[in-house]
Amino acid sequence: MPGIRPGMTTERLGMTATIIDGKTIAAQLRGRIAGEVARLTSAHNVTPSIAVVLVGADPASEVYVRTKSKAVAEAGMRAVDRKLPATTSEAELLALVAELNKDPSVHGILVQLPLPPQIDSHRIISAIDPAKDVDGFHPLNVGRLASGLPALVPCTPLGCVMLAKTVRPSLAGLEAVVIGRSNIVGKPVAQLLLAENATVTLTHSKTRDLPGVCRRADILVAAIGRPEMVRGDWIKPGAVVIDVGINRVAGEGGKARIVGDVAFTEALAVAGAITPVPGGVGPMTIACLLLNTVRAACALNHLPPPAV
Ligand code: NAD
Repeated sequence: MPGIRPGMTTERLGMTATIIDGKTIAAQLRGRIAGEVARLTSAHNVTPSIAVVLVGADPASEVYVRTKSKAVAEAGMRAVDRKLPATTSEAELLALVAELNKDPSVHGILVQLPLPPQIDSHRIISAIDPAKDVDGFHPLNVGRLASGLPALVPCTPLGCVMLAKTVRPSLAGLEAVVIGRSNIVGKPVAQLLLAENATVTLTHSKTRDLPGVCRRADILVAAIGRPEMVRGDWIKPGAVVIDVGINRVAGEGGKARIVGDVAFTEALAVAGAITPVPGGVGPMTIACLLLNTVRAACALNHLPPPAV
């Protein structure tokens, strides 16, 4: 939107919301992580390292893996990229995971999803050492999060809660509504909000009167995958809106553009604060992956958790 930049308060334009600048917040987090990595390397000879496994040549996954590897290197960490052909069997991938589990120089293992159809992704995720599960998808980490025990938690949900806390440092007692119940975003973000003592409602495609439920939310998290589904009149005045959606739509002149799950311009007029798309939740996901890897490296080396 012309004239609107992240971080800017939009009062002057007749709007109310503060734009939560995920790009800058993520860059600051990556800076603190780099400091911690340097300290771990010099004081303990531990350089956090992550193995990123990519099976096949899905172009979106390739871009994502490249971005991850760049961020890992910039933070002073070590990236071990393992590329396997699309024809890889489940047994071959399980053998690689077993090798990485055993390797003491690898602290985090990330198997890029989706996997080719001959591989059962649940079986692969369950084979990753939970102590190296930096995606937080292993059933043990999922259960630990649900039980309120320390866990490696999924990166995007972690980023959502961090962003919400930049504008509402305490979420205790607030009404939080999450739209979407996927294992990757919706369910874990609901668990994290519950751990912050919010009163959480988890909604989905079968929820009745979704707009009415959303209007109760002090914190609204949209993780649906439907362009601009959440309209301005679904939002409680002053609410914090976290938009996880990444949707490619045709823009002016047929050029593709990325929009979120929230009708951004409408939401700006009602919300207290909102994350933009792009530049909101997306950059936090990778920063949180780095954070999880440093946490895993500390735990595996019996060191206290990182101070970031
Ligand atoms: P998903 O398809 O697994 O889940 C979507 C959820 O939305 C489902 O639980 C479904 O019940 C719900 N839903 C679908 N239609 C609905 C409707 N009409 N009303 C209410 N609920 C409805 O998707 P996901 O993996 O959770 O991802 C959601 C979005 O977030 C996608 O746009 C994805 O690209 C994006 N995403 C972004 C990041 C990031 O780093 N920013 C990371 C992961 C996912």
